[in-house]
Amino acid sequence: MTTISKNDQLFERAQKTTPGGVNSPVRAFRSVGGTPRFITRAEGPYFWDADGKRYIDYIGSWGPAIVGHAHPDVLKAVQEAATRGLSFGAPTEGEIEMAEELVRLVPSLEQVRLVSSGTEATMSALRLARGATGRDKIVKFEGCYHGHADSLLVKAGSGLLTFGNPTSAGVPEDFVKHTLVLDYNNVAQIEEAFANFGDEIACVIVEPVAGNMNLIKGTREFLQALRDLCTKHGALLIFDEVMCGFRVALGGAQELYGIKPDLTALGKVIGGGLPVAAFGGSTALMSKMSPVGAVYQAGTLSGNPVAVAAGMTTLKLIQQPGFYDQLSASAKRLADGLTAAAKDAGIPFCADAVGGMFGLYFSETPPNNYAEMMAGNRERFNVFFHHMLDEGVYFAPAAFEAGFVSAQHTDAVIDETIAAARRVFVQL
Ligand SMILES: *Cc1c(COP(=O)(O)O)cnc(C)c1O
Repeated sequence: MTTISKNDQLFERAQKTTPGGVNSPVRAFRSVGGTPRFITRAEGPYFWDADGKRYIDYIGSWGPAIVGHAHPDVLKAVQEAATRGLSFGAPTEGEIEMAEELVRLVPSLEQVRLVSSGTEATMSALRLARGATGRDKIVKFEGCYHGHADSLLVKAGSGLLTFGNPTSAGVPEDFVKHTLVLDYNNVAQIEEAFANFGDEIACVIVEPVAGNMNLIKGTREFLQALRDLCTKHGALLIFDEVMCGFRVALGGAQELYGIKPDLTALGKVIGGGLPVAAFGGSTALMSKMSPVGAVYQAGTLSGNPVAVAAGMTTLKLIQQPGFYDQLSASAKRLADGLTAAAKDAGIPFCADAVGGMFGLYFSETPPNNYAEMMAGNRERFNVFFHHMLDEGVYFAPAAFEAGFVSAQHTDAVIDETIAAARRVFVQL
């Protein structure tokens, strides 16, 4: 007699009332196949599914769980905030503290506006860039994800300097005809784009460390070229640090590279697991936002007091001495250990890490752009993913995603992962 797992039962039930059974597509295991795990609770580096199986969690809610799940200080702050009321629709001192903290920690920020999701942050930053420059065209890079706003769900057009095509049904061609999609880390292309459209480009938006096409680091040369070209042509540079902010370094990628964008989008870590995101830049630019300026943007739950309490407590915890040294060492230990294990098994594989983010690649060398990432051996990743899941290790359920460690991923936890991978690699 076979018993149907609780995960299978929940998945079947979920699909009746929710499209694909999930509220965000990457959770659905479409890329790797099989039944998504329904999570019942999480603590430290672990979470547990509906069948009671424990996993070492390497997605950390896709970045926010940087101090580990259910950190006692974060829980206490959330509980205390909740007892004072859940939402007021009027300003609070907590929002000032959060803004002050973000401005103090992120090099290019003088003012921020709090919102509730990364999508809102990038969408609003784009509107501000267009409003401030009076230009319509924007540049993005293939494989970078900036949330699901219409003008950002775009892939490259048929020719290099033709404007983009929608990647989603329901996005009018008219909305994406202003979006130019270029190759990541390609300096020649961006130079050509500015040579052709320099005085029409409102902004360039980029993930300075890309985490939505596996992990791909922007080269210093590429990011500096973006900075120089934007300055020269009066366009704004937007760093989408929703994922890499407070992940690759305390001051984000802009601190790591020493390059200041005009606008920055933040999210994920700054909410510590609750919905907080932000965008910001100079006071001069941010003064163009409503109610001071003419660029409209608003949100009923923006700066929500409970979410801000979780975010502020997380921001305090990551400023403990040595936090990023330990986080980086953990991600590197994992990347190096997996690489060595694959080598011993004779599997073409490599891994890379920056701060608390890592990438796993079934290829000889790390990719530099979307096309190189897509050329990796995805079938082998999918087999690896499922074997690791059986071993109690939860990596991102797609070969296109970065991974994340938290401060609770101790050497023992990492070594347990590597030991499991050694058993798995020899079966691939
Ligand atoms: C996750 C992410 C977003 C979207 O944030 P949501 O909170 O999911 O809307 C935008 N940009 C980047 C780089 C992200 O990783």
